[in-house]
Amino acid sequence: MPYYFSYNMPAYEYAPEGLSPEEGIARLKEGNERFMTEALRNARFSAARRLTLLEGQSPFAVIVCCSDSRVPPEEVFDQGLGELFVVRTAGHVVDESAMGSIEYAVAFLGASLVVVLGHEDCGAVCAAISGKEHAGYMKFVVDAIKPAVEEVRASSGNDLPAAVRANINYVVEQIKKTDPYLASMVAEDKVRVVGALYTFRDGKVTFLES
Ligand SMILES: [Zn+2]
Repeated sequence: MPYYFSYNMPAYEYAPEGLSPEEGIARLKEGNERFMTEALRNARFSAARRLTLLEGQSPFAVIVCCSDSRVPPEEVFDQGLGELFVVRTAGHVVDESAMGSIEYAVAFLGASLVVVLGHEDCGAVCAAISGKEHAGYMKFVVDAIKPAVEEVRASSGNDLPAAVRANINYVVEQIKKTDPYLASMVAEDKVRVVGALYTFRDGKVTFLES
């Protein structure tokens, strides 16, 4: 077991299916075959649509989303090829590269909406709440979430739902304020940055500002 997994990982109800890497590649290849041959349930991913995008992309929204496998933005919002520019990290933490990606989508692709999509029971937020030291590169994820968690802890202790919301709002503010270009676009009302919360049971996304 790698040294950085030595702390207690939360137990997930949806455990991995135990596919080997080779089986995983085979499954991805089969899926891509369906994608290429249009045997898809969603026409938004059809070959016809794919061909309309040969010249380029102009996604209307950037989705800054947790990497959690249960929250695929295109599915959650029922959007297809060319519609969403997606930036995903655990806990939707935003570093320089993520910020640059958002900036690119706004400056060069014309996206005018940035949605920070968090979700209930976020494992990355749990890890930040735990207060445990995380070694390896996971430390960077957890450390990025700590300011939001500590803000909540001061008022309402280790409240996970409150911390999840605080982390969404924190990243919204980061995007609005850290990057001078995005800050100016927001100030000029050319770009809107909003937070949103996904809940598993009903699949609903609740926008935290309207
Ligand atoms: Zn998460």
